[in-house]
Amino acid sequence: MNERTPDPEPPRTQRVVCSRCGKTADSLPVTWTCSVENGRRMYLCDTCAREHIRSIESRLDSSWW
Ligand SMILES: [Zn+2]
Repeated sequence: MNERTPDPEPPRTQRVVCSRCGKTADSLPVTWTCSVENGRRMYLCDTCAREHIRSIESRLDSSWW
């Protein structure tokens, strides 16, 4: 087996990386959260999404009102 290795093709499924903990997934799991901040897509895994939502809510509590 000495065939030429094909050029690496971009993965058909979009690889996503959690912007908080760096966890990766081959495709976007339904439990992950996608949000656009400053024109860039941010992905959060299920664990970080929960933490993120909590921080958003606490931020709203302190500055929203
Ligand atoms: Zn995460």
